[in-house]
Amino acid sequence: MSQQHSNVNQDDAKIREYWIKNVCDRDKNTQFKPKEIYDFIIVGAGTAGCVLARELIHCIPNINVLVLEAGGPDAYSNGIISLPCNTFKAFQVSEHNWGYITQEQKIQSFVDPTKEILKNGFPYICGKVWGGTSSLNAMVYMRGQAKWYNNWAAQGPEYKIWDWDHCLEAFKAVENNSRKNPDETFKKFHGFNGLLHVQDSQNGIYDVMSGLIDAAKNLGIPYNDDFNGERQNGVGIFQFTMNDGKRCSLAESYLKDALKKVELSPDSKSEKVVSVDVKSFAHVLNIIWDEENKEENIAIGVRYFCNGVVREAFIAPKGEVILCGGAFNSPKILMLSGIGPKENLESNNIKVRKELPVGRNLLDHSGFYIVAKSTPSAINHWSNGAEIGIIHKANVEGKIPCKDDFFDENPDIEIMGMFD
Ligand SMILES: Cc1cc2nc3c(=O)[nH]c(=O)nc-3n(C[C@H](O)[C@H](O)[C@H](O)COP(=O)(O)OP(=O)(O)OC[C@H]3O[C@@H](n4cnc5c(N)ncnc54)[C@H](O)[C@@H]3O)c2cc1C
Repeated sequence: MSQQHSNVNQDDAKIREYWIKNVCDRDKNTQFKPKEIYDFIIVGAGTAGCVLARELIHCIPNINVLVLEAGGPDAYSNGIISLPCNTFKAFQVSEHNWGYITQEQKIQSFVDPTKEILKNGFPYICGKVWGGTSSLNAMVYMRGQAKWYNNWAAQGPEYKIWDWDHCLEAFKAVENNSRKNPDETFKKFHGFNGLLHVQDSQNGIYDVMSGLIDAAKNLGIPYNDDFNGERQNGVGIFQFTMNDGKRCSLAESYLKDALKKVELSPDSKSEKVVSVDVKSFAHVLNIIWDEENKEENIAIGVRYFCNGVVREAFIAPKGEVILCGGAFNSPKILMLSGIGPKENLESNNIKVRKELPVGRNLLDHSGFYIVAKSTPSAINHWSNGAEIGIIHKANVEGKIPCKDDFFDENPDIEIMGMFD
């Protein structure tokens, strides 16, 4: 066993011990209501679930929200989650990760398309902890391109809200960017009062970084000092979702803010508490449907596994069950609930409620790393080791990108400079 693996195993054990002592034991004494009823049930305290919990509790008066999270709280993780220099370690801690691995598959060789190569299982990292994958990711603050959002909006009038103008306003509302002396163009594209902290690299530029940037500039690749500004291509240094050099996950920014809002309902007749209730280690198994309305597929609650017992939680009339389990697990929960491709469901003995191509549109983005060894003093604990981006248009023939690819307004390949 390598030194690195044994350290990770020790971290796993420490995190598990803390969770057992502080979360599981406390939960054992929790009195579960005979019938748990909430206005909203959110499945997954990840990136989307944390934002949603906070926005619901602040925007709709007099509601209570249940968040069910299969993982544990991020509060104790041996500094692995909060310290950027531990980013690549955070993936390896099995307590934080669902541990998915792709199936072995034959794919066409990129270099020689006449050949097939066998790809072994490839780990697909997926956060299982408060904050979800925002507690493990590389923290690069990079939005999608205007064109993608406008393509969504073009699908019909009901999608108008997804156009770039609406999304840009939403991005700005969430963001708290701490760039020093921002110019007018920067201000046009960024927010400064949101809960999600975004900052420039804390490291300054060290030799290997400036060498890479100079090399790119010599090739004619344009320098970009804001990958979320007017254009997204070129070479530049990323901004990060960090606050004062520490990871700013969505649990840290949004969920913890949501948890502060606890109050009694203004309706004096009831003693309902307006709050967000997060249950850790609560693994949602499937959606509970309204069996009286079989045709409509109306969700009325969820079944989940917690503390060794299968429990049920329900929504009040007009309430909603909202799946925020991420790109892999939300489709999985839908399929376990009978919504999905018929052949997949039937081969797993799941009764089909509605046949839909659930999970069929999974897309990933390509990225390549240039890895360089630096002197130990070059990088400090603020660095996740991946600070430079070279973003360009994919060359579908697999050729090395040429200068023109870097000028394309809609880049889709990312090269990261990694420094170890
Ligand atoms: C290695 C890696 C690096 C990345 N780097 C960046 C980056 O630098 N910048 C960037 O912007 N994005 C990055 N991303 C992508 C980004 O982190 C994700 O797109 C984003 O976190 C997805 O949010 P989500 O809410 O859809 O899912 P998640 O954040 O994954 O949240 C899903 C949550 O649901 C919970 N859950 C799932 N199933 C159940 C269940 N059955 N019961 C209860 N709870 C459940 C999970 O435990 C998890 O907490 C990276 C992703 C990876 C994998």
